Amino acid sequence: MTRQYLLAIDQGTSSSRSVIYDERADVVASAQQEFRQIYPKPGWVEHDPEEIWASVRQVTREALASAGITMREIAGIGITNQRETTVVWDRRSGECIYNAIVWQDRRTAAYCRDLGERYADSAVAGKTGLRLDPYFSATKVAWILNNVDGARRLADDGHLAFGTIDSFLLWRLTDGAVHATDATNASRTMLFNIHTQAWDDELLELLEIPASMLPQVLDCAAEFGDTSEGAIGGAVPVCGIAGDQQAALIGQAGFDYGMTKSTYGTGCFAIANTGNTALTSHNQLLTTVASRIGGEVTYGLEGSVFVAGSALQWLRDELRIIDSAPESEQVANRTGVVDDVYVVPAFAGLGAPYWDPDARGAIVGLSRGSGRDQIVTATLQAVAYQTRDLFDAMKDDGMAPSVIRVDGGMVANDWFLQFLSDILDVRVERPTNVESTVLGAAYLAALQCGMIDDLQQASHLWRCDAVFEPRMSSDQRDALLSGWATAVARVRG
Ligand code: ADP
Repeated sequence: MTRQYLLAIDQGTSSSRSVIYDERADVVASAQQEFRQIYPKPGWVEHDPEEIWASVRQVTREALASAGITMREIAGIGITNQRETTVVWDRRSGECIYNAIVWQDRRTAAYCRDLGERYADSAVAGKTGLRLDPYFSATKVAWILNNVDGARRLADDGHLAFGTIDSFLLWRLTDGAVHATDATNASRTMLFNIHTQAWDDELLELLEIPASMLPQVLDCAAEFGDTSEGAIGGAVPVCGIAGDQQAALIGQAGFDYGMTKSTYGTGCFAIANTGNTALTSHNQLLTTVASRIGGEVTYGLEGSVFVAGSALQWLRDELRIIDSAPESEQVANRTGVVDDVYVVPAFAGLGAPYWDPDARGAIVGLSRGSGRDQIVTATLQAVAYQTRDLFDAMKDDGMAPSVIRVDGGMVANDWFLQFLSDILDVRVERPTNVESTVLGAAYLAALQCGMIDDLQQASHLWRCDAVFEPRMSSDQRDALLSGWATAVARVRG
């Protein structure tokens, strides 16, 4: 029996997915399962790690069954995951001592402010590329140690292990034989020095986290360890790991300096490949490890927009002026570019470059003739304007992409992508396979198990479905952007 397939596991925030690929990177089968979101208090978000583990095993079984193959035909496994989400378990039993604390969880906000008084945010940024914020794993680990009964003592005795979701899955897949992670996931913990590629003793001391809890950090394509028969039904090497946004950049074949991907799902996440330079942002963008292959680190500049596709869900579920998100395309097609009405979907404040948590949403510029169609179209336009703000911040930090590759649910909307290209004044490319994240994990596994010789080979597998070139006049673009700036000024907190 030849091992000719790859298994890629995408452990996301709302669901787990397993996809089987053949050696041409074509999807043979896939399965997906949602799991519970747990909200114990306002601002707290948890997952049950056992449910995550059960869902990963289940979707893997289903994907194998639907492909009509067994683990014996899988050459290697790639894992990609929701980043920053924090799991702590007892090494002796493998049992988690608390639920997974999800990246969205804000329970450590006060603790972060307190740390900020003792330790400069700029020093954290200098080492980790991140900001002193509850988003990242570090303060979540500290919270578990400081709040779960007996945790501190277990940690001091060396019994506890910390991992992001990749690391937890790897531990379970190898039946407790391997405690490791990859450099992209490590770079989101706020404990990892992205320049020296080592855990940072000073930050560990500041947060009172014993180094004994930390996983070993490997390249994204590496021998992470073989799965155990009991865990998943066969011994197969786990040979690729990357956090979801970094995996998407790999899936988009963003291997060269300046290549940029922007994912439009609920929110929008953009990463630009900055090669071997870790650019320091003056606009509070994040500097991150985009990949580490063969010991060579590629850095990325990352920014996000909180509200993208969710603005369409708001039109559908709250305003109820569209029946479905795709309907927005027909509306925009008949309405055309709207130059008087602006929707500012600052439902959760404004991100880069404003960083205004107190801003709230608004619709401005309404006149007697404005109606539903203008509001729907202006909402699509708002996602493009927010992307423009993000890219202006990137440009100011020294990275001006000339092409962006897009993925995520919203990119099915051609009207949106044309407007995006017009507003950014750059070429926008949509691949045939918009499932970039899980594909990135498969590419890493393919590289490590020798199905491809280098990642550049994956570039040849990347297929373009549609290209959108800017065709708006600069006068019109400038006028629209100036209207957007005025609208944003009105909603600032
Ligand atoms: P996530 O991974 O964050 O759950 P997806 O990548 O599945 O998100 O994308 C879903 C989002 O895309 C939804 O917020 C939805 O409103 C939006 N969306 C889906 N189709 C369209 C469309 N044709 N036009 C605009 N937005 C869309």
